[in-house]
Amino acid sequence: MDDVVIVGGGIIGAATAYFLSKEGRKVKVIERDPTYKLASFPLSLGGFRRQFFQKENILLGKFAREFIFQIPELLKTEKNPRPTASMVTNGYLLMFGPEHADEQYKALENHKACDAGTKNIKGSELTKFFPYINNEGIETATFTDNKSEGWIDPFMFHSA
Ligand SMILES: Cc1cc2nc3c(=O)[nH]c(=O)nc-3n(C[C@H](O)[C@H](O)[C@H](O)COP(=O)(O)OP(=O)(O)OC[C@H]3O[C@@H](n4cnc5c(N)ncnc54)[C@H](O)[C@@H]3O)c2cc1C
Repeated sequence: MDDVVIVGGGIIGAATAYFLSKEGRKVKVIERDPTYKLASFPLSLGGFRRQFFQKENILLGKFAREFIFQIPELLKTEKNPRPTASMVTNGYLLMFGPEHADEQYKALENHKACDAGTKNIKGSELTKFFPYINNEGIETATFTDNKSEGWIDPFMFHSA
């Protein structure tokens, strides 16, 4: 008898199954389309970041990053001895016009409280860091350069 039945074996179903199994629960995942032709996760850009507004999301982003980097250890199996999500840690740059700047300054307080490592620059200084960007109309920008954000290959992540 299964303890838990999960309907949908996309990235959320697979992750839920993984963590429940780790807690000792018996889990069955039911997926209607094992080719995942219409699922969201293979379409995703695979971006992982901490730069959210809510503390809960920022902390989830931190947790996800730590998990992703432990994939080779945590998800190693006989059939898949070298799992990876093909991580690229080139960071995230978010830019805001005057109408959204105040909200981002509030978000930055939450980033700081969660030790997210986000940096903040004025739009006028953006080209010092990113010379290829047109900063016209940009009031403020936030970014990371500490390998805490970037992107993965979602299909490889799911396979792992
Ligand atoms: C273009 C695009 C870009 C994105 N970029 C990012 C990004 O950069 N970063 C990020 O974090 N997120 C991104 N996302 C969002 C991310 O892809 C989704 O949040 C995530 O894939 C959702 O995972 P899921 O497992 O809930 O859904 P899915 O991946 O859609 O999986 C759901 C699964 O459930 C199955 N299913 C549904 N109903 C049933 C049923 N009745 N019986 C059996 N099986 C069923 C489906 O077949 C499917 O396989 C992006 C999404 C898109 C579309």
